[in-house]
Amino acid sequence: MRKPDIRYWVLWLFLLGILVIVFLQVISGYNITRLLQGNRSLASEMEVQNNLRKLQNDVLIIDTDLKGAVITGNKTYLTGVENKIKALQTEAVRLNQSIAPHQRTKELKTLQLLIQEKSHFSYQILTAFEKSNNEEAALRLINTGRGKLLRDSIESAIVQLETLRQNELQTIVSSIEDTGKSARLWGLVIAIIALLAVISAFWYIVNQGRQQQKMITLLNESDKRNKEVANMKEQFLANMSHEIRTPMNAILGFTNLLRRTTLNTDQRQYVQNIHSAGENLLALVNDILDLSKIEAGMMSLEETRFSLHSLMSSVGAMFSEKIKEKDLKFTTHIDKEVPDILSGDAVRLTQILVNLLSNAVKFTEEGKVEVYVSLLTQTDEQVRIRICIKDTGIGISSQKQQTIFERFQQAETETTRRFGGTGLGLAIVKQLITLQHGTIDVKSKPGEGSEFVVELSYNIPDMAQLYAAALTEQEEAVSLQKITVLIAEDNVMNQQLITHLMKSWDIDYVLVNSGQEAVNELKKREYSLILMDIQMPEMDGYIATHVIRNEMKLSIPIIAMTAHAMAGEKEKCLQLGMNDYVSKPIKETILYNMIGRHAQQVAEVEELILEHIKLDYLEQLSGGDKTFKKQILEQFLQQAPQELSQLQTAIDTGAYDAIKQTAHSLKSTVGYMGLADELYPFLTRLEQAAPSTQTTAMNHDLAYVKAKCSAAFSEVEDLLKSAVF
Ligand code: ADP
Repeated sequence: MRKPDIRYWVLWLFLLGILVIVFLQVISGYNITRLLQGNRSLASEMEVQNNLRKLQNDVLIIDTDLKGAVITGNKTYLTGVENKIKALQTEAVRLNQSIAPHQRTKELKTLQLLIQEKSHFSYQILTAFEKSNNEEAALRLINTGRGKLLRDSIESAIVQLETLRQNELQTIVSSIEDTGKSARLWGLVIAIIALLAVISAFWYIVNQGRQQQKMITLLNESDKRNKEVANMKEQFLANMSHEIRTPMNAILGFTNLLRRTTLNTDQRQYVQNIHSAGENLLALVNDILDLSKIEAGMMSLEETRFSLHSLMSSVGAMFSEKIKEKDLKFTTHIDKEVPDILSGDAVRLTQILVNLLSNAVKFTEEGKVEVYVSLLTQTDEQVRIRICIKDTGIGISSQKQQTIFERFQQAETETTRRFGGTGLGLAIVKQLITLQHGTIDVKSKPGEGSEFVVELSYNIPDMAQLYAAALTEQEEAVSLQKITVLIAEDNVMNQQLITHLMKSWDIDYVLVNSGQEAVNELKKREYSLILMDIQMPEMDGYIATHVIRNEMKLSIPIIAMTAHAMAGEKEKCLQLGMNDYVSKPIKETILYNMIGRHAQQVAEVEELILEHIKLDYLEQLSGGDKTFKKQILEQFLQQAPQELSQLQTAIDTGAYDAIKQTAHSLKSTVGYMGLADELYPFLTRLEQAAPSTQTTAMNHDLAYVKAKCSAAFSEVEDLLKSAVF
């Protein structure tokens, strides 16, 4: 069962927490209202108590005043008594109002009546005494004792009421206490819940952080592992590429050589077929190497011109053996309307056809395999063609037709056991077709056969441009100079192949087996350029180039020859100081043109030098030893100016012995530069100078020698800076 996601739990808890907090808030609000209410009741109860006490007091005062006035006959006691009696009534009314209607008991009513009665009686005494001046009547009224009785009754009613109110007060106080307690309790609950929420949120955040940290570490590790795996994969591909390409190089090279021998028509056709099949196979090897590119979406298309007929025939040739073995009938038909020369990615088309044909042949036990190419649409620049590959094999059920274009999908589970294969072929085909904006469909019935229909668009090349390009290639091909090439290659078959090519191009060469031997050879004599294999025993091509460029300081053109087809290989070679790069299996014209281009540059340098100085003598003398030649040239630049200036001084001072010696020495100095023929007559005249010789004549001869030498100096300087050294 799937483990529930912790995030949903946290969300639910969060919602629950909010509900609890809202509930607690309502309860807390209710408690606060109750507290406020309790407080209000308490305040009004206090007011009632005060009113009762005031009433009791006022009754006593009124009685005292009236009694005092009547007994003493002093009317001053009566000041304000009337008002006090009136106030007594008002107070009674206020008392009634300050008590809630439901709490107005019979004791309160009795008190009201008693107050009324008391007020009335007090008023009677006051009227009798003050207004009628009937003191006796007033005294009689007092003596009846009614006033005292009323006062006592009032006091007793007040005590009763007070006792009642006391109970009420008790209830209010205990209710306030309860509400306070419950408010405190709920407050505590809220605080605990808030604390728990904060703790769990903190725990959750810390835990999340820890998990994220763990995930980051894991990701870093897996990223590192991925990179290591990618490096290993690249290394593996590079090695595989080398291993496969080396024998392919030999197969293609020797079929090339075989093609040049005398063959009958059948043999020529067979060799041609071997060659084209070899080239296609090589392209396939490249595709396998490029598989990682497809997966990474980095596959790029290369547009080249190709002949549809020859492409079809070489693809067919790859299966001729198998078809013969299975005794199948194989036909290829290309509609006449389909242009033969097309421009597009021929290698990918080959790969598509090879995959589809290989399946058709593989899954057909008897009957035939047909390829039919027809035209769909055509404009001036573009053509869309349909290629049908039809067989009479086992067929594919309609359910499986949907999935066979997916990776690792095979129609039947026992397919691998019976026919082999991995289920990758059609996936690659589909990707390659989609990349070229084409489509692929399948029609099939189990037991009857299958038909794969591919639709693809190609450009139609401009024929005029095509001829112009062919001409340029021809011109380039004849521009090679006579040169000497140093070949560093350890593989015997490759050696045979390259030496054969050199002979057929009439190029002088020396063959060595390792980088070390190449370095030794360069110390012995001069070469026009080096063809350098990369993987060699003892010292590989990279190290040899490093030595040549950095230790020997030679700028001789170096062309790398490598079976490594990995991206970045070329850049590595160029970075190390190589001038060009040719990948094995070597294409004859490419190598020929490349050698021609570099030899041409060297020849141009040499032509420039030969305008003033001639290096034949020095060449002879050095036997091709470049270091020696360089030393002599540098020596010339140092020594000749010195000797010229010594000669000038000797002429100016008339030192004939010195003139003779210096002119003689100069003869050999300029001789190394091939200037002997030109300068000897002048220097011989100077050598024979005597006091009778005119100074002007000597200066004239010296001026000529100086002019010639100065031209030679700049040429020698250029030469030392040039690619030759
Ligand atoms: P593979 O051939 O290596 O198994 P593919 O991707 O080329 O892989 O083909 C996938 C599956 O499609 C095959 O395993 C097979 O079952 C089916 N299939 C392809 N082409 C044919 C065909 N011409 N006839 C019958 N079945 C085919």
